[in-house]
Amino acid sequence: MKVLNEVNINFLSRSSNEGYARIAISGFVSQLDPTVDELTDIKTAVSEAVTNCIVHAYADTLGKIYITARILENNTVYIKIRDRGCGIENIKKAMEPMFTTAPNEERAGLGFAVMQTFMDKVRVNSRLGKGTTVVMLKKLTSRADNNG
Ligand code: ATP
Ligand code: MG
Repeated sequence: MKVLNEVNINFLSRSSNEGYARIAISGFVSQLDPTVDELTDIKTAVSEAVTNCIVHAYADTLGKIYITARILENNTVYIKIRDRGCGIENIKKAMEPMFTTAPNEERAGLGFAVMQTFMDKVRVNSRLGKGTTVVMLKKLTSRADNNG
């Protein structure tokens, strides 16, 4: 799908930056005039993915988190969230609802399930010791006054 617009941000995996990422991406997406619900869905999905980078990918360390957000044709939002952290051993298992490798940190294991609920598509790529990339797509409801 054709890329109509794009922004890239990167920031340190401090939990204080989770709110920044959410606001930055929702600010970018706002040019499509999304509904309040659509914007909330996107913010929530970004939050979950960024939190995973902070608490899992860079659990005992600080590293960089890279986000690419794009506006594609057909009112579609593309969001890629990448880390160079520990990686995921078994992606299929990790994406199962209630699966968590951090049960004693009050993790519910629902982050990926939330992303899948609120976005149309969620793709995960990961290599142990190299990092993880999450790509999410969401098609927004078309509004007559959206001219890109
Ligand atoms: P919750 O999101 O409900 O607080 P959780 O983070 O454990 O709990 P998910 O977000 O669904 O649940 O993630 C499932 C598991 O996938 C995590 O427990 C972790 O092992 C692994 N994981 C997810 N994202 C990453 C990442 N970026 N790097 C390394 N491991 C990850
Ligand atoms: Mg999570």
